[in-house]
Amino acid sequence: MTDRYDVLYKVVLVGDLGVGKTSILQRYKFGVFEENYKATIGVDFTVQTLTIDNKTVKIWDTSGQERFKAMIPKFYRDAHAALIVFDVTNTESFEGVGKWLQDVNYFSGLRTTSLLLGNKCDLINERKVKLCDAQSFALRNDMLDVIETSAKENSNIDEAFLQLSKELLKRE
Ligand code: GDP
Ligand code: MG
Repeated sequence: MTDRYDVLYKVVLVGDLGVGKTSILQRYKFGVFEENYKATIGVDFTVQTLTIDNKTVKIWDTSGQERFKAMIPKFYRDAHAALIVFDVTNTESFEGVGKWLQDVNYFSGLRTTSLLLGNKCDLINERKVKLCDAQSFALRNDMLDVIETSAKENSNIDEAFLQLSKELLKRE
């Protein structure tokens, strides 16, 4: 018999380079934030194991580098969910969301649920993407929701992972 503690999910974390994917994961898992940019060189993706709400969730984080392209099918295969991240101060990163969503839907399978995260919401004076625009994108594209986060100030990080895990459990 499998109890709830054994449930294992695969979640992919995607979005343009520099939007804060690794920072969000580091903040959630270790409670830390690194100001200086340190891109991981030579690694296509890393996997972090989290326990959310008594469930084991493996989060696959991309490095966002070009050579990653060859790994795409393996990266997405059998993912239960995706966290698609953009940077609220970077319009291009928001425009890139559609492409990431397309990859998720194409490579992961039909039942993948996607949650949209608008990160860096602490940079209030540099904001370019309106919450209502992100919301209407999420609605139009059957995404679960949009949550504005700050890995830097620890806003809505726990909430985002909790909402994701609740949705995963619902789908069993
Ligand atoms: P990734 O390429 O998507 O993994 O992005 P990183 O996590 O490496 O972050 C890119 C840069 O953005 C780093 O300099 C981070 O310190 C910074 N950053 C990440 N999240 C936030 C945030 O919530 N607020 C602010 N102000 N900066 C952030
Ligand atoms: Mg990263």
